[in-house]
Amino acid sequence: MRTRQVVVCLVVSSWISIVSGSAQVRNSASLSTLKTTPERTNFTETSRYDDVFAFLRSVAQASNLVHVTSFGYSFEGRPLPLAVVGRVTDARPETVKASGRLRIYIQANVHAGEVEGKESVQALVRDIAMGKYAPWLDSMVLLIGPNYNADGNERVSLTNRGPQHGPIGGMGTRANAQNLNINRDYMKLETPEARSMVKLLNDYDPHIMMDLHTTDGSRHAYHLTYEVPNNPAVEAGIAQLSQKDWMPAVTQAIRSKYKWEFHSYGNVSGQSTPRVWSTVEDLPRYSHNYWGIRNRFGILSETYSYLTFQDRIITDTRFLEEVLNFAHTNAARIRKATEDADKLSIIGQQLSLSSKLKRSPQMVEILMGETEDEVNPYSGRFMLRRKDVRTPEMMWEEASFESTGAERVPSAYYLPAELRTVVERLQTHGIRMERVAQATPVQLEEFQIESTQVAAQAFENHRERTTTGKWVASDKAVPSGAFRVPMNQPLARLAFYLIEPRSNDGLATWNFLDDALRDPKVYPILRTRN
Ligand SMILES: [Zn+2]
Repeated sequence: MRTRQVVVCLVVSSWISIVSGSAQVRNSASLSTLKTTPERTNFTETSRYDDVFAFLRSVAQASNLVHVTSFGYSFEGRPLPLAVVGRVTDARPETVKASGRLRIYIQANVHAGEVEGKESVQALVRDIAMGKYAPWLDSMVLLIGPNYNADGNERVSLTNRGPQHGPIGGMGTRANAQNLNINRDYMKLETPEARSMVKLLNDYDPHIMMDLHTTDGSRHAYHLTYEVPNNPAVEAGIAQLSQKDWMPAVTQAIRSKYKWEFHSYGNVSGQSTPRVWSTVEDLPRYSHNYWGIRNRFGILSETYSYLTFQDRIITDTRFLEEVLNFAHTNAARIRKATEDADKLSIIGQQLSLSSKLKRSPQMVEILMGETEDEVNPYSGRFMLRRKDVRTPEMMWEEASFESTGAERVPSAYYLPAELRTVVERLQTHGIRMERVAQATPVQLEEFQIESTQVAAQAFENHRERTTTGKWVASDKAVPSGAFRVPMNQPLARLAFYLIEPRSNDGLATWNFLDDALRDPKVYPILRTRN
């Protein structure tokens, strides 16, 4: 993970003896000799695009618990690999949904220098095929995408991740082939990778999504830090289950089994004391809050860059195990939380569209660490290696957000048909809308603009727009051909955040309405008064 200001980023198993249904291990002998690229290379190299597909196909050939497909394309046209893992007969979304099990999407390698998640999840697919974790498959189907930034993965250099401790044979790039950061693209959807992921969400409707990263920010003592939805616009049941139950259970399990510490993500780089352990923005352009605002569980993890590559793979595996153990044990509760959030009407409520970090009432103990220098023998550059040192330091903590602006959620928005790209983007997100056949008398509001301006600095090829003003009663009629976005739909929170003109991460922010805002008096989208 990386904010704009600071550099951060964010086995041999037992065999299945009895499995239900038709799913059976067909050829477990071949799986016991199947190795991931790091396992084959003494943890010198990470897997390339072809290695990943070949590995998954080998597992699928040996086990009908695993089906290999693709969920879309990279910018350069590489099919994005997806392993569907569970007691299902094929990889199709209809089949997976008909299984009635909890659906979990696990995404690795979005930043293709942060490679260990890609390796952990491949090994996980193999180990499940060999019978490990068999009880999980009673309750869950896993959708595993090891190589999300497939183009970045092929742009290997020994120096792509600064002082990260390997793999010493090199790793890919942070950006995709468009030089865009996919983990800032979830609202604007300008990368084929993010659009493919959103299509996967709309097709398979996972209840839980995970996004595996590596952090090279602060020199802390945590093996892994994590983020879960914390934008105030996320439904409270989803946010609280994630923050108050799930992550504490994972952290406690890791502590008792391995004596390791995990913590919610933070960064202290460049500060003087007393320092502040401060998380990244809560914008839904990031995966975890994008998934949260869709009423689903989003979990982002950051292994520590200065663990060795092998130890980072182990860390991701342990994290995945504990997250999935909780999901298995709490499957009914997790499913119900998503269903309740989908059913809950937000029409008439005030919903947040901007926020700021909230400081903890008291200082908390954060464990800081130390590193020592090692040299990559091939590049000659220094790498940092974590020392087993934990220095407690009392700090303020900024892990949550409070709203700084809210709006009433209307029963519908009306989009003029000429806003073609806005309409297309909302539809791509999966937001339901209908065409208005003829001019319709509806009591409407229009947004009167007080100010609208773009940022001085470009970010991801955009100059983000900030708009102020207020909604007032309007005499306008809905023009024929307009698109009506009803807000009694599961994706209403996302629609609100994308459409509202004062949203800090909406389509107006990302310049989608710039043409319409040349006459900066009135926002071109109307909404109902109730
Ligand atoms: Zn990252």
